[in-house]
Amino acid sequence: MSDDFKFDDNLVDPSLLVSDSMQTAVDMYEKRIYDLQQLLEISRSLCSTLEYSTLIESILYTCMCQMHVMGAGLFVFDDIDSNSFNLASNHTGMDVDPSVTYSIHAGHPAIQFLSSHNEAITIDVLKEAIGKDTEIPQIESLHPTLIIPLFHKNRMNGILLMGERLDLGEGTDYSEYDKTQLLAIASLAAVAINNASLLEKSSTDMMTHLKLKYFFFNILTDKLDIALSQKQELGVLMFDIDFFKKFNDTWGHACGDYVLKTVAKIIKSNTREHDIASRYGGEEFTVMLPNTSKDDSMAVAERIRKEVENYDFTYENQHMKVTISIGCSVFNSETNPVTTAKDLVEQADKALYVSKHNGRNQVSFADKNIINSIEVSE
Ligand code: GH3
Ligand code: MG
Ligand code: MG
Repeated sequence: MSDDFKFDDNLVDPSLLVSDSMQTAVDMYEKRIYDLQQLLEISRSLCSTLEYSTLIESILYTCMCQMHVMGAGLFVFDDIDSNSFNLASNHTGMDVDPSVTYSIHAGHPAIQFLSSHNEAITIDVLKEAIGKDTEIPQIESLHPTLIIPLFHKNRMNGILLMGERLDLGEGTDYSEYDKTQLLAIASLAAVAINNASLLEKSSTDMMTHLKLKYFFFNILTDKLDIALSQKQELGVLMFDIDFFKKFNDTWGHACGDYVLKTVAKIIKSNTREHDIASRYGGEEFTVMLPNTSKDDSMAVAERIRKEVENYDFTYENQHMKVTISIGCSVFNSETNPVTTAKDLVEQADKALYVSKHNGRNQVSFADKNIINSIEVSE
């Protein structure tokens, strides 16, 4: 209120003024209660999402909606491979250059600063703090309107970048209240990310970075339910490296590990985001192919088989030829109406046995004959 403002007692009833200020207070408390209810809802929603990429999407959209922001991105900590903060691929509305690797090492001054200040800050404040000459191109080029660190148990596990903000009549600056609200969401997001990351780690094979058998079975059971109810097909591939023992015996266990990791990479790079590849056992792998026909499943298997066959495996200057055998089964509500994930995997295993039996380095399909005639080898 400006200094020269004077009440005109003839125009305004003073008792009304009291009630006006009371009304303002009530409005403020109502907004706080509403925001707290929102936080509860956000907490419930984030903590019930354990799938990593769905969770990140959910965090981004929550913050964008709450702050009327057009885009957002999240850097998450990768302590397995690189000790860096990497931009999660499902950023949205940010000016991302596909040729740039958005990765910032944990030792970078910007990360050091953010991890010791649990505050929502602008890029200018961050640059000021770390020295104007210290570049952070991965963040600067995204032009964030606000940067919010995510803290879980005093450890920063993510950095949220807010994009362009809509002006809904109150300007585009963030008020202190907005920042507090964002920090509250960030702390909920940090807990949810920690939970999802624990599940991710405990369901992932550390050597090949593929999923483990039990996780694979869980998801396959879900996908089979979907395939059953929506009359979709669902393919399963089972792989076994041919004569794998000879790599261990001839060149040592570390060479065997190299072959395993490389085959896993080839499998992963030949499958889609929602196809799940797992390390099923020692040198056996599985892949599930949701909503995929027999022909398409066989084509994926053949593509992987060929790529492994043609790949130049080189370990300590030693070039090696590696081949794999593959079995393929496909759920189809009419031609192969299996009801359990175990049955579908067993069928792929039987087909794999046929590939081995017929000379290896080939793909076999679990047709009626194979399903009914051959016992699975242990
Ligand atoms: P086949 O063509 O019949 O499959 O022959 P194979 O030599 O591949 O036979 P088998 O499947 O029985 O061999 C599996 C070998 O995989 C035996 C085991 O020592 C090795 N193995 C299992 N896990 C690992 C691992 O993590 N690292 C390495 N280096 N070897 C492993
Ligand atoms: Mg084997
Ligand atoms: Mg083998």
